[in-house]
Amino acid sequence: MGCRRWESIRIWNDLWLTDEPLLKVATNIDSINQELMVHQLLSPDRTCDEHIIRNLLSNHLSNEIITKIMEVNIPKNHFQDRMYWKESNDGWFSTKSSVNMIHKNKGHKKSDLHWIWNLDCAPKIKHFLWRISKGGLQTKGRLQMRRIVVPMHCEFCNHHSEDFFHLFMDCNFVKDIIQQSKASLFNSIFPCNRNTREEKDILQEIKEIVGMKQMSILATIWWSIWYFRNQIVFNNDNKDKPKVVEFIE
Ligand SMILES: [Zn+2]
Repeated sequence: MGCRRWESIRIWNDLWLTDEPLLKVATNIDSINQELMVHQLLSPDRTCDEHIIRNLLSNHLSNEIITKIMEVNIPKNHFQDRMYWKESNDGWFSTKSSVNMIHKNKGHKKSDLHWIWNLDCAPKIKHFLWRISKGGLQTKGRLQMRRIVVPMHCEFCNHHSEDFFHLFMDCNFVKDIIQQSKASLFNSIFPCNRNTREEKDILQEIKEIVGMKQMSILATIWWSIWYFRNQIVFNNDNKDKPKVVEFIE
């Protein structure tokens, strides 16, 4: 069940993301505007807007929490929300839907991608990979699919379209970085025919080929590439190949 009315939820003092107010885990509290509401993080089409979120929150919250915020599922309508029963079509509880739920749960198995949480890397990197697996990484390709107008070029090589596959597998700048790092083997294991497939299937396939240990390294490299990509996009940083390689190692 859920109950959300974004227009009336205060970012810093209400319990909407974790079980304690975000103010408790924030830094630079003096410069925080405590009147800020959750709906102010949304773009006009009511999706989480990474630019707005980073602008407003990155001085105060860890990357991990910001990632969590971007994963929040926002209802597209402006109606006042109410408690709803997610197992029925109309949102109201019925015995039939609860029986259906029990049957459904009996046959339910853990997501195939549960291994992500057992990787040997920092929690923020596991969250990052999980976000990729859910198609939630806000690459320019992904923003365009959501009809958000952004320049589409790859920040590293100026290729015309930055999406997950270009950024992490095809980009020559990135390939070069991987080649220069200790992880040069990864260039040879990326699956073919991937443009018609979803990220989660690609992750699954790579993990089956390389195993958990190598997957942990690859996840860390990808996270670093995404980190530097964001530095360029949000902080006008230079693309400095040696710096990225050094960071990865
Ligand atoms: Zn590129």
